[in-house]
Amino acid sequence: DVVKKNYKVEVPEYEMPNNIIMCKIEDALNWCRSRSFWPLTFGLACCAFEMMAAGDARYDIARFGSEVFRPSPRQCDLLIIAGTVTKKMEPIVARLYEQMAEPKYVLAMGSCAISGGPFKDSYSVVKGADTFLPVDVYVPGCPPRPEALFYGLLELRKKVTNPRKFAENNKERIMQNG
Ligand code: SF4
Repeated sequence: DVVKKNYKVEVPEYEMPNNIIMCKIEDALNWCRSRSFWPLTFGLACCAFEMMAAGDARYDIARFGSEVFRPSPRQCDLLIIAGTVTKKMEPIVARLYEQMAEPKYVLAMGSCAISGGPFKDSYSVVKGADTFLPVDVYVPGCPPRPEALFYGLLELRKKVTNPRKFAENNKERIMQNG
């Protein structure tokens, strides 16, 4: 009782809610994940150069906690499809995705990754990464600038921290906004 009494005196009850955060463990883990995506060191074509530029000192992808590009898919949770996916590369990209640990996310960067882009009529090009991968976020452009990639990362952050509120697929929204 003495301890309880002292406790009540030193820490008024009305202050307690300000110092305590209650949430599900899964939500806390998702919050952490969303602020430290680890992308795979992997690029397919010209868009990959903008992805690389995003990591330099001028753009500084570290501000978003995603500067840890990993050379092994087993250490990554984010696959950025940066460039044209040819039919020859499709099974290799799919294999890389399979080798990543759960939970894992896919960001389609640029028109080629979204729909085949300027090569969509070519016999050798896949018409969008979502034909064989579960794409979470689409970043339009040819190529998208690093800022656009950051926008995509922030959209992915929203999706991971609050999957119920985030639209299941933002492709339609992008099409509407042009
Ligand atoms: Fe190159 Fe444009 Fe395709 Fe990106 S979207 S890989 S910049 S052609």
